[in-house]
Amino acid sequence: MSFTLAIVGRPNVGKSTLFNRLVGRRLALVDDQPGVTRDLREGAGRIGAMKFTVIDTAGLEMAKDESLQGRMRALTERAVAMADVCLFLVDARAGVTPADEYFAEILRKANARVILAANKAEGRAGEAGVYDAYALGLGEPIALSAEHGEGLGDLHRALEPFA
Ligand code: GDP
Ligand code: MG
Repeated sequence: MSFTLAIVGRPNVGKSTLFNRLVGRRLALVDDQPGVTRDLREGAGRIGAMKFTVIDTAGLEMAKDESLQGRMRALTERAVAMADVCLFLVDARAGVTPADEYFAEILRKANARVILAANKAEGRAGEAGVYDAYALGLGEPIALSAEHGEGLGDLHRALEPFA
């Protein structure tokens, strides 16, 4: 028995970095520039002995026009439909943005099972944003650093009910 985890959230919060860390291979492209990754990407994820399918929602990086919200909604709803649980990432350094609030709304309306995580939480610069994320009303955020591999123990614990 395994489960499927979809990583969702606005562009640049570190979804692909986390995907790569969970998959352990560079199946998803990571870049500072928009337009690098597209659509949904699936890999075999692992934290310790826990194995699962992980989906990276890209594609949003492509959108630069007024269709961004529509793309965000369509892509996220596709991921929600495929997944047993969504990992909703926000950026602990940027704090909660209107786009994050829009995503929270999509996830709520889709009745998705959501684990909230504030990424880029390494060091002191991340602390405020982690507490900020409580305001999304999606429960206690997990502090993660996809880049540094921090918080994976907490993520493992949050995923245990789905394993
Ligand atoms: P995505 O658009 O959500 O897939 O985000 P990416 O994974 O492409 O990451 C966007 C940027 O954030 C890149 O420059 C990453 O190196 C950076 N990043 C990702 N995770 C972390 C992290 O844990 N800490 C910090 N400081 N930067 C990160
Ligand atoms: Mg990406």
